[in-house]
Formats: sequence, C-alpha cells, structure tokens
Amino acid sequence: MAKTVFIIVDGMADLPIKRLKNETPLEYAIKTNLYKFLKHSEFAYPSVLGKLAPQSDSGVMADLGYDPFKYSTGRGWFECLGLGMQPKDGELSIRVNFGSVVKGKLKDVRIYMSKEELEELSNEINKKVKVSADFDFKAGEGYRAGLVFRSGKKDFSSFVSNNEPGYTAKFFDNGVKLSFATAVKDRKIHKIKAVRKEAEYTASLLNDFVSKASAVIKNSRVYRERKKRGLELPDYIFLRDAASKDPKLPDINDKYGKKWAAVAGMPLEKGIATAAGMTLVDTAEDKDIKTDFYDKAEKTARALSKFDAVYLHIKQTDAVSHLGKFRDKYAIIENIDKIIISKLAGAMDLGKDTLIMTCDHATSSELKRHINSNIPVMISNSKFGFHGNFSERVCSKEHIKEIKRAVDIMPFVMSL
Ligand SMILES: [Zn+2]
Repeated sequence: MAKTVFIIVDGMADLPIKRLKNETPLEYAIKTNLYKFLKHSEFAYPSVLGKLAPQSDSGVMADLGYDPFKYSTGRGWFECLGLGMQPKDGELSIRVNFGSVVKGKLKDVRIYMSKEELEELSNEINKKVKVSADFDFKAGEGYRAGLVFRSGKKDFSSFVSNNEPGYTAKFFDNGVKLSFATAVKDRKIHKIKAVRKEAEYTASLLNDFVSKASAVIKNSRVYRERKKRGLELPDYIFLRDAASKDPKLPDINDKYGKKWAAVAGMPLEKGIATAAGMTLVDTAEDKDIKTDFYDKAEKTARALSKFDAVYLHIKQTDAVSHLGKFRDKYAIIENIDKIIISKLAGAMDLGKDTLIMTCDHATSSELKRHINSNIPVMISNSKFGFHGNFSERVCSKEHIKEIKRAVDIMPFVMSL
C-alpha cells in the first residue's frame, strides 16, 4: 500500500520580513532536499478558522480533518490526555502556564523552568492547595502543566473565560468551545468569569485555585532558589481552555482505512493524536534541535515500515516566532530540510507515496503571535507536476481550488 507522511511544522507560515529581502522565513530558507518532493507536487492555501487566528489545537485538528467548529470542546482535554492524565467526560481539564504578574499586570505568560523545578512545584501544588474539588496537577514541558478537576461540589462547566491574556474563548450553541489568539492590549489580569450561569461554581473554583496555587509557588523552594540565582520568577498560574467534555473524534484509522502512527513530543499534539486513535511513537522533545530532528526523522522512517501513515509534528518554529527570532525560524526550516526531509527522501517510495508538509497556523515573528493568514500546504505525489519553491507566496497563487479550508486537506490527500 502507498504510504503517507503528514508533517505539521508548528506556526511555520509567516509574513514577509524586510530584513529577509521581503521574504517569509519559509520562502527564504534553502530547501535542497525538498526539491526531490517538489518535482511532483501540488499546493494548497486554505484558511484554518476564517477570521480567527487559530491556536495549535484547532489548527492541528483542522489539518488532520476534524472540523474545530464541530469537535472542539476546549484545548485542556487534549493537553491533559497527552500528559497521561486520562481525563473523563464530566471532569474539567485545563491547560496551565506558569507565568508572572506584577501589581495586577502581566509581566510574562511563560517562565521556562527545568523538568525538576516544574515537577517540584507541581507536587507542592498537589499537596498544599485545598479547594472545594479533588484535582490532579501535572508538570508538562518548559512552562506548561495540566490540571484535571475530578469531582467537585457541583457539576463542572467549560463555559468559563481564560485568565491568560492573548487567548479568548468563544462559545457556540452546539457546545463547541474554541479559543483563539488575540493581541495583548490590556496587561491587567482579569478574574475567570462564568459565561453562562451554570458555570458560576466552576469560575469561583478556578479563581480560588489560581490564588492558592500562586501563593504556594511564591512560598516554594524553587522560587527562593531561582531568586538567589537571579532567574525569572514564576509567581502566577494562568488557566486556559477548560474542557468538560470528551470531543469524541471519529477514529482516523476507520475514517480513511489506513493505520496511523504519530511522532509528536508535546502533550497537546500527543493528546490530539491519541484522541484520533493514532498509535503514539514514544518521543520526547530534545532541547538540541538537531538531536531532536535526527530522533524524529529516524522514528518517522521506522514507523513507516509498520504503519500506512505517519503524522509528524515539529514544534520549534512556533517557539522562535513567539520570541521574534525570524532568523532562527528560517534556520530551523533549513534543518528540517537537511535532517528530516533528506531522511524521508530515502525512506519513502517517491514513485507512489505521499508527503504533505504544512502548519497548524501562521505565527508572525514580527508581531510575535499567531495570525489568521491562510496556510501554505505542499502535497507531493508522483501524479503531480513540477514546482520550484514552496512558500506562502507561491501557494497563494497556485493552489488546488477544492481545498478551501484546512479540514479539506485530509479528504483530498487520502483519496490520492
Ligand atoms: Zn501551533
């Protein structure tokens, strides 16, 4: 059977940058190995969420063929599932950031810490925070954690706002909850609000949790040690995208009649892959980009011998975009080409297999946030003709008309 590799390069798309000769990082990057795939390729240039700037959860869902406007119940579900917390319908799953707030105003939403520091803080929170519901708090990567409230005094509801500036939740009548990225204009930290009456208990529980957990962090050994060493200090927790329902994604293996594996290191993407029924290949994110790419390339190639299709997620492009490092961004894309694409060119049968390369959303490295631009998609298959470069610009001009939205990618490529 012909094989498929679907690479999602997080936040890869960008806007033209003056200091890169008015090109985007994708356009500017030298992609020698990709030409082997571009020889037989078609492009698409779909919108992900229309006017809304997507978060990674809705972007990845859409790319993998799950309409976020139909299936999204809140990112927290996938984050906690990907952390191995096994959320259940009716429980409340939440994505957490360790950040910093000074005099009621946002200083930083991301305080990067070591795995040991994150775990120590998480253990303390589990032990010392007492609120009106049972919960599990689990360390993630960098500045992230997961939080699942198991049972409370009243039923939980996902109809609550986020306290993390820059992410706004939008609620739909069919129970769908989407959150999207916005510019941070107001640095004042707002309390979590109930959007519907049924969520009043949940909102007050979450506000209570935020103040108690933040107090635990400020009194922790980790805080004191970091202060001594002059490092950035975590003193606040941001709760985002609470989910109280299983999104019930239809099984991707049944949907397309192919066996899927996923090579993804971050909890969110692991969670989405698990919810979709993919088999997870054991992978962690390595801090060294080259080590990480060699590992993921090897695992993707190996998974191809056992599975019909592999979803590979590359995270680093988005992280550098949020930091405004556009030169690092094109260098990362060049390394994807050198390490991952070159490996795949050897491992795949270019006469019959299909490679898809795209992203979950565009992240502007000048604005340092996600934007609502359409995403560039390369679909390489021997049926298609030659293209010279893969970029936002080329995709916007030459693209398959039937792929209007990111959710249209999968039905198209699975029918090849
Ligand atoms: Zn993303």
